[in-house]
Amino acid sequence: MKYILIADDSDVIRSIVEQTLRLNKYENILKAIDGQDALEKAKANQGNIALYVLDVNMPRMDGITLVKELRKFDSTTPIIMLTTETDKSKMLVARDHGATGWIIKPFQGEKFMKIVEMYVKP
Ligand SMILES: [Mg+2]
Repeated sequence: MKYILIADDSDVIRSIVEQTLRLNKYENILKAIDGQDALEKAKANQGNIALYVLDVNMPRMDGITLVKELRKFDSTTPIIMLTTETDKSKMLVARDHGATGWIIKPFQGEKFMKIVEMYVKP
């Protein structure tokens, strides 16, 4: 099974997302602590990623720039943005650059999984 790549600079969010995925039998997870880390991991695992789950605000490379960089070599893998209520306007920008959807933090695990399952089958 392909990987789900999570990029968020918050340890708490990364572990909530990871635990939620694992509880729902998604075991192949790659974690990145910022946009640059995510880009490197995406390049190293090209063709083996089923879904990206990306924070918007991250150090070194923000989520919008990351979407642009990912779309240079991966035009098809779905990208879900993790955002906050105050970042909503950035979602349209992210979509223009190739993001597929988004979820607003804080989110319920069940709602998060519904979105994940729209794109990935375990
Ligand atoms: Mg952040």
